[in-house]
Amino acid sequence: MKIDLTGKIALVTGGSRGIGRETSLLLAQAGAHVIINYNRSAEEAEKIREEIIRQQGKAEIFQADIAKPEEVEKLFAYIKTHFKKIDILVNNAGIIRDNLLLSMGLPDWDKVLELNLRGAFLCSKFAAEIMMPQHAGKIINISSVSAIKGGRGQTNYAASKGGLISFTRACAVELSGKGIQVNAALPGMIVTDMSSRARKRAGEDILKGIPCGRFGEPRDVALLVLFLASDMSDYITGQAISVDGGLSVS
Ligand code: NAP
Repeated sequence: MKIDLTGKIALVTGGSRGIGRETSLLLAQAGAHVIINYNRSAEEAEKIREEIIRQQGKAEIFQADIAKPEEVEKLFAYIKTHFKKIDILVNNAGIIRDNLLLSMGLPDWDKVLELNLRGAFLCSKFAAEIMMPQHAGKIINISSVSAIKGGRGQTNYAASKGGLISFTRACAVELSGKGIQVNAALPGMIVTDMSSRARKRAGEDILKGIPCGRFGEPRDVALLVLFLASDMSDYITGQAISVDGGLSVS
């Protein structure tokens, strides 16, 4: 049995780098036509598009700041006009703005919530509007182990990712009867730009808390997303699934 996404239209927000990049690649390798959203990294987005095309896959890039409602609207207007459908939405775009609680200013709180939580809400709303008449769709929210474990300096980030799990459950209750499954993936410490400072700061010590004994690779997360995007997971909805080498249970 093989995952086959031929004919499916997939949108990956923040697909230019890290987990989103790898997810775009795997979805395209499974046959999906992938819309790679990016904000600032135009060159990286173009590189991944070219790699997918080189592998005989289908992909395009679309610039939009997911924290800006008007830009999300434009992105979905484009999808509606060009494809008239969407099968898979991966709400992956995310940022950190770490600071201890007493030093956390409103701008850092708002910036993180605006992208990580409100952005996912906006994309899901637009996607669900298209998915409902199709009676099919997959929404995958990239949350984080921080939603469960918290994290020093991460009150804003942990709240956004915890909110994303609650959002996932509420969406699943509303949408699963319409053939749309909504799930969340909770990555642990994954080797990307986002985690580079934390990995450097904590050094080897951090590995002691990961039962699998290694950091995760973007591919570890992308494989879970691929499964959740496929019909193999049709009876799974409203779930928050960790992909963290055991970090959350250690
Ligand atoms: P990353 O390497 O920093 O990449 C972040 C991606 O998000 C980039 O493609 C970036 O695009 C995009 N992005 C940032 N702001 C955006 C905006 N306003 N609009 C649209 N796209 C935007 O991060 P990552 O580690 O791959 O993280 C991906 C997701 O996994 C995030 O939601 C993160 O919270 C979650 N996560 C990561 C880890 C980890 O250890 N790395 C752990 C748990 C959860 P541009 O560069 O084009 O702006």
